[in-house]
Amino acid sequence: MTKIHFRTILVLIIALSVIFGMGLFVYRIIVHSDEWIQHTYNGHLAGNGGLAEAGIIYDRNGKVLAYSENKLRLYNVDDITRLSTLHVVGDDSMNISSAIQSSYRSHLTGYQFFFGLGLPKSLRRGHDITLTIDADACNTAYYALDGYNGAVVVYNYKTGEVLCSVSTPTYDPLNPPEITEENESEYDGVYVDKVLAGRYAPGSTFKVVTLACALENIPDVEQEIFSCNGSKKIGGKEVTCMHVHGDLTLKEGLSQSCNIVFAELAERLGKDKMTKTANELGFNVSYEINGTYTAKGNYNVSKANTNDLAWSGIGQYTVEANPMQMAIMCGAIANDGVIVMPDEIRSGVTKLQAGSTQKRLISAELARKLDEYMRYDVTNYYGDDLFPTLTVCAKTGTAEVGEGKEPHAWMIGYAQDEDAPLAFAVIVENGGYGYSTAGPVAVSAMEACALITRNAT
Ligand SMILES: [Zn+2]
Repeated sequence: MTKIHFRTILVLIIALSVIFGMGLFVYRIIVHSDEWIQHTYNGHLAGNGGLAEAGIIYDRNGKVLAYSENKLRLYNVDDITRLSTLHVVGDDSMNISSAIQSSYRSHLTGYQFFFGLGLPKSLRRGHDITLTIDADACNTAYYALDGYNGAVVVYNYKTGEVLCSVSTPTYDPLNPPEITEENESEYDGVYVDKVLAGRYAPGSTFKVVTLACALENIPDVEQEIFSCNGSKKIGGKEVTCMHVHGDLTLKEGLSQSCNIVFAELAERLGKDKMTKTANELGFNVSYEINGTYTAKGNYNVSKANTNDLAWSGIGQYTVEANPMQMAIMCGAIANDGVIVMPDEIRSGVTKLQAGSTQKRLISAELARKLDEYMRYDVTNYYGDDLFPTLTVCAKTGTAEVGEGKEPHAWMIGYAQDEDAPLAFAVIVENGGYGYSTAGPVAVSAMEACALITRNAT
């Protein structure tokens, strides 16, 4: 009896294990099969990483960026277009994981859950995708980067459409490089779309965050007179400024990018308030864009001493920003405090994003105040003729990176113009001064994108 009883239990356990295993298997197929199918080790895929018969990728004007012909995956005929759109479009490999050809590969190849890729070609049509980017604007930004490594992004803060997104270094998807020890430095970070995944010290562009925190928390801060002698001891150690600015208001402090004003403010505001505002404005946050998550910017002063806290207020210490995150912050300021999430896909795909793509970042009142300050920055410091046809609000940054290297050059901002509602972020690695290096890149990219929105209206 005991023996039979034991066997019954054993059979029951085996049966349950099989049922459980089958359940798990089916579950994993449902959830993961479209990812598995894309892997290059899948022998059923004919060449070109499975893209040999995949759908076409167009830019917003119907320019073909990638297509398949005679079992080959091919790209735009113009080599500069191939270079400038690589990180958005992708290549045959999955190396650039955030690229459309990586994240939407099963869609492009016509993979279907029940039939996989097993249907005859006549029934298994790869889907086409139209992107929001404009190849010409990407080319303009690519040329403007002038061989520097970095990232440029411009998006429409009313619709979310990304018009220009370029990351360098880049390569030709028709002729991917073999990266060896010798050419490693030339291709440093080449598989990363720096717009979405790059992280850099924000330097003075972070003063917008410290400014927001001061406006929110210090009554009458706009009436205060600050004083800069070129350096100041905070927390027992010096914080230095590029100039001796003398007496200045908060607004002059931003437009002249005085370190002392904002270092002092960060110290006065304290860790909690600074962290709260930084979080509100998108630091320590990852945004989902077409199924890819942006790199989180970093603002963490939990272990900072008083001097570190002061430096954090001017975007140094351990502060890091992601270019797309900075563009989103600017877009929110431009749009009365509300972000419309950037989007690189115009049509051809059911959007992966769930829920609302709009979110309030800051109050409309604070957004308008920041707008006033960032506008003053352009009219009173950079000069309003910097952007020939646009009314721009902006902030530059020159982020020290140490090791005897040139600083990273930043410019972030947006246009107020109703027919060109565009926000941007530009980072030029080791480019030197923000204004002189990132400035011209921002101007080129913004003016190129303004032509697009104005032609559309
Ligand atoms: Zn100063």
